[in-house]
Amino acid sequence: MRVAVVLSSAVWFMAAAAVAELPRLEHSGDGSLAVLVVGDWGRKGAYNQTQVATQMGVTAEAVKIDFVISTGDNFYDDGLTGVDDPNFYHSFADIYTAPSLQKQWYNVLGNHDYRGNVEAQLSTTLQEKDPRWLCIRSFILDTKLAEFFFVDTTPFSDKYFTDPEDHVYDWSGLLPDRATYLSNLLADLDSALRSSKARWKIVVGHHTIKSAGHHGNTVELEAQLLPILEAHDVDLYVNGHDHCLEHISSSRTKLSFSPVGQGRKRGKVTLAHGIPRR
Ligand SMILES: [Zn+2]
Repeated sequence: MRVAVVLSSAVWFMAAAAVAELPRLEHSGDGSLAVLVVGDWGRKGAYNQTQVATQMGVTAEAVKIDFVISTGDNFYDDGLTGVDDPNFYHSFADIYTAPSLQKQWYNVLGNHDYRGNVEAQLSTTLQEKDPRWLCIRSFILDTKLAEFFFVDTTPFSDKYFTDPEDHVYDWSGLLPDRATYLSNLLADLDSALRSSKARWKIVVGHHTIKSAGHHGNTVELEAQLLPILEAHDVDLYVNGHDHCLEHISSSRTKLSFSPVGQGRKRGKVTLAHGIPRR
């Protein structure tokens, strides 16, 4: 049964991480939840972004969403140039204007975002421009019904480092170095998932783990992230990157995969992910 509840306001706050280094946020609710998930969208309204945004507003109104999740590739082609980049308005604030979409957005970064000024998207200055905006590399969002674990997947992919083609990536925040950054992230995620008592554990990232789409599986995430998700009974991995809508399940594990990288370009799409009660 899917139950949708509209909160009068999105209430969240930063709190000291109880068991891990990952920032922990809370989104209050009454034990039911409806979430809209979108990825791969910031095209200044082009490539059908505006049409998808309009339908998102219709869907969000129908199911009374609590908040929106973005799986990254928030601004094409090369992220934001800085906190004053007008693309923030042209691709986000002035696009998702439906009253039903005036909810908190919880965002992670995609590979295209790493081609711009990463710190700009992470900056609280953008929250001052539009209070819906919240982007953190990796964090935990705790609701009464489900716990969401947002994971920064772009730094896992070797090709961005070994074969960046003509792109320039902003790796300045991967401190002290990439290997340590990734090992710390995996250790923190492992710890947080192990201690989670949530009825539903949902992991959100940009890149695919499993996908039948153009990009296919991400081998680095299959090797490093997937074992942690399976070990801790994660219910769902939600991602973007592949511009299609999929739901992949297996008889071997309860974990299923749901790429939703459909925030623009192609036409017919359903983006709402209702979370049934157990
Ligand atoms: Zn991508």
